[in-house]
Amino acid sequence: MCEDCFTREYSSFKSENIWLEVDSQLGLKPGKGKMKYLSNTVDGEYFYQCVHCKQKWRLKDSDLSFRGYLLKVQ
Ligand SMILES: [Zn+2]
Repeated sequence: MCEDCFTREYSSFKSENIWLEVDSQLGLKPGKGKMKYLSNTVDGEYFYQCVHCKQKWRLKDSDLSFRGYLLKVQ
């Protein structure tokens, strides 16, 4: 983990605002060359890798009934 990707994990996005903040950062970081989109699964998990520290992340979008998460890939 580093400043270029994320300095913490979110096991659950506790509010809509937190989710929107993380979602907008994930929308910007690949364009700035900080994170790389890798792939996604059929059940809607998205994988990214930090260009700087090489940490891989998995994201599940938040929706009405499900909070979503952003976790490191171990
Ligand atoms: Zn990083």
